[in-house]
Amino acid sequence: MIEMANVAESSLKVKNVNEERVLTAVGGYVDSGLAHCACSECALDLLALALNQTPPRYVANEVLMDVYGERQGALTDTDIKQTVLNAAIRVASNPRCGMQAKSWRRNFGS
Ligand SMILES: [Zn+2]
Repeated sequence: MIEMANVAESSLKVKNVNEERVLTAVGGYVDSGLAHCACSECALDLLALALNQTPPRYVANEVLMDVYGERQGALTDTDIKQTVLNAAIRVASNPRCGMQAKSWRRNFGS
């Protein structure tokens, strides 16, 4: 018979490494002043969107993180950055906090 307490304790050791990578990338993006709006609402929106676009990658042991990172098919840092960028464009196009939406046309000169 499996002790539920043991299962709960073990599940804490299973970690979604992609979640941490997205967290770091979103934090870096906002901290660099790249976000259209840096309020907490938009930052969380950006994080949620980016996480939804990122497949989870669970590992049972954090020491294996580097091994997983190099495996074929694993997301590269560029993939993660691109996901954050795409999410940032969506948030900036429709900020929920009431901030005026970013005008992309002006940036492209048309
Ligand atoms: Zn905002």
